[in-house]
Amino acid sequence: MSILKVARMGHPVLRERARPLDGTEIATPRIQRLIDDMFETMHDSQGIGLAGPQVHESIRLFVAGVDDDDGTMAPVVIINPEVSQIGSVVEEDWEGCLSIPDIRGRVSRALEIRIRALDRHGKPISMTANGFPARVIQHETDHLDGVLFFDRMTAFDSLTFLDEYSRFWSKNDE
Ligand code: ZN
Repeated sequence: MSILKVARMGHPVLRERARPLDGTEIATPRIQRLIDDMFETMHDSQGIGLAGPQVHESIRLFVAGVDDDDGTMAPVVIINPEVSQIGSVVEEDWEGCLSIPDIRGRVSRALEIRIRALDRHGKPISMTANGFPARVIQHETDHLDGVLFFDRMTAFDSLTFLDEYSRFWSKNDE
């Protein structure tokens, strides 16, 4: 496995609409290796999720998963996701992004969602997610449409550098 270079805000690949993958392409060694490399890259950067465009691959694929102070989410590989909101409750919370290093900001997201997608074997999956995992899935799905979390902010007064986030706003201090 290897660690991939992460595209930062300003790179055009982050603003493209990524293309879907079909089952044949998902099964190729190239895509299977890419998935493994994306997990390794995400862990190396201490990220919670990583989408194809963030590693210069304009394809509708992301990996996610974490178990730390920010929250808990089982590792998932999500391909060609279709996300729909369940109910109408929206919740605001902190987000960060490996493509926008060392910045945090508060973003409103649907509290509960349903997601339909393919897994790394090309098998259809359907699940619901609530709270933190739902937020991660919405953030990563946005990357596939060229959307960054700044675009979802309704006000910028919460924008915070990571050091100040840790000092004043981290959940660890609550
Ligand atoms: Zn991101």
